[in-house]
Amino acid sequence: MPFLDGSKSGSSAARAAILLVMIALGISACDLITAPLPPNAQPFTPPAVYARWWAMTEACSGRSGDLGAVRWYRVPGSRFTLRGQAVAGYWNSSANRIVLAEDIVEQGDMVRHEMLHALLRRPVHPRSQFLGLCAPLVSCQGICTRDDGTWHVPRSDYVVLPPDSLNVAASAELLPHESDGERWFALEVSVRNAGAHAVLVAAPGDRVTPHTFGYDLRGPSGGIGGGEIESDSSTLFFQPFEIKKWLFEFRVSSDLSEYRITPGSYLVRGDYGRHRSADTTITISP
Ligand SMILES: [Zn+2]
Repeated sequence: MPFLDGSKSGSSAARAAILLVMIALGISACDLITAPLPPNAQPFTPPAVYARWWAMTEACSGRSGDLGAVRWYRVPGSRFTLRGQAVAGYWNSSANRIVLAEDIVEQGDMVRHEMLHALLRRPVHPRSQFLGLCAPLVSCQGICTRDDGTWHVPRSDYVVLPPDSLNVAASAELLPHESDGERWFALEVSVRNAGAHAVLVAAPGDRVTPHTFGYDLRGPSGGIGGGEIESDSSTLFFQPFEIKKWLFEFRVSSDLSEYRITPGSYLVRGDYGRHRSADTTITISP
């Protein structure tokens, strides 16, 4: 359930520079079922986008639940200490409470991770959900592999290929305003094995931090780029003709940062294993 000390490191650098954001591996401890509320936690009303994120998590998981029954708290900073461990968020089953570090409150993949716990009513990470049905929508940061054991290649007749043997596409969409006036830009990156052979991708990066899905946005006030580093090999394995996807989301804002984008025209692309999609353009309106 909680994200531990893991690291989304980013650097906002100079205005015209490219912000590089990496999600590195996390260490986990998701067994804090009766975890206490941190002393500096403050309750908050979830923004309207949480209803959309909840519906997305319901749809991928096949479970339904009452978002209104979840109580939300946030703690200042990017991590907080819970029973001696640095965490970014957790779901408490007895109170149906989600506690988030302030810095991840707008990070859809992180929020949906905790929503998925709340919908499943389980503090553990069933592989079929976190790394299966809801894989394109929930962040794992290395912690989703701990409960269902090590992944094994499901067949032996695969070939090892570089990322450029796959087809990468990016779909950019400026979403309608949420009911509270917020607006979000969604970038879905998809990667397809167009061949009839199963493929294990030899992604760049060291052995434990291969690069998987990424994005690059370049606009009037600079650029932002980043992506996922995957710790579970299943993300690098493709059945014949399989498509994998990942969703990046950015709130339209007056500042450009890890999860925010300013209005203007952008050149957009996605990548997988640093193999890029074709460029597309989109205009972000307030
Ligand atoms: Zn978790």
